[in-house]
Amino acid sequence: TTITMQTKNLEVYYGKTLAMQHADIQFKQNTITALIGPSGSGKSTFLRSLNRMNDDVATVKGQILYQGVDINQPKIDVYEVRRRIGMVFQRPNPFAKSIYGNITFALERRGIHDKRVLDEVVEKTLKQAAVWDQVKDNLHKSALSLSGGQAQRVCIARALAVQPDVLLLDEPASALDPVSTQQLEQTLRELKQDYTIIIVTHNMQQAARLSDYTVFFNLGEAIEYNKTRKVFTRP
Ligand code: ADP
Ligand code: ADP
Repeated sequence: TTITMQTKNLEVYYGKTLAMQHADIQFKQNTITALIGPSGSGKSTFLRSLNRMNDDVATVKGQILYQGVDINQPKIDVYEVRRRIGMVFQRPNPFAKSIYGNITFALERRGIHDKRVLDEVVEKTLKQAAVWDQVKDNLHKSALSLSGGQAQRVCIARALAVQPDVLLLDEPASALDPVSTQQLEQTLRELKQDYTIIIVTHNMQQAARLSDYTVFFNLGEAIEYNKTRKVFTRP
């Protein structure tokens, strides 16, 4: 299988404080990798480094290879990085716009205004995020009126609209009820067919159920990295 992303000697500092070190991890296409470990162990810091999300607050040293290119370089276009490597946050954060407008926002900013194209993207991504049936008759209603589970799915669709290769998710189910969580996990299993998925979770069972690979963080280091079935099987 193809390696989509790889970190080498990654170190992240907040000011002078080293928050995460020694991460050498490979992410393969069509797999889900779970980042697990106690609170404060560096999972989010690692995740946010992967698409240069924490540029403003952190100093990131080492290499982040995306399709073989080191994207942790000053000359790299961070907006393009964030387009290819999309992010879904812990709490659903739809824009104060219609559902339709949430999905099309980034495309319109890129100069795509053809309604037929936009309609197609909206339908396709909402289907991929498994929320089309619930919202198709209300596309022009505010996304702020959605339930947590539906809002999170619209946020996934929004991330998919710009055609990323990699989807980063930071505890995407932590604000969801058990049923929505289970549905979200099923959606991620389906999305795996087309993306490289990296998910932070504090829920070990979720990691065991969902992921192909697991990285275990402790005290700012990736102390274990293996196939999930090996991480969760006693010798
Ligand atoms: P999480 O539940 O993801 O661990 P946190 O409450 O730790 O969330 O962090 C929420 C936000 O606060 C994040 O943007 C994170 O980068 C920032 N943050 C976390 N720890 C600190 C800190 N010690 N100083 C400043 N900002 C922090
Ligand atoms: P986790 O995601 O495993 O809960 P984090 O990556 O949020 O861990 O945090 C790792 C360490 O970095 C913690 O000590 C946290 O306080 C610190 N940290 C996170 N974000 C910030 C920030 N924006 N500024 C300063 N320190 C931060």
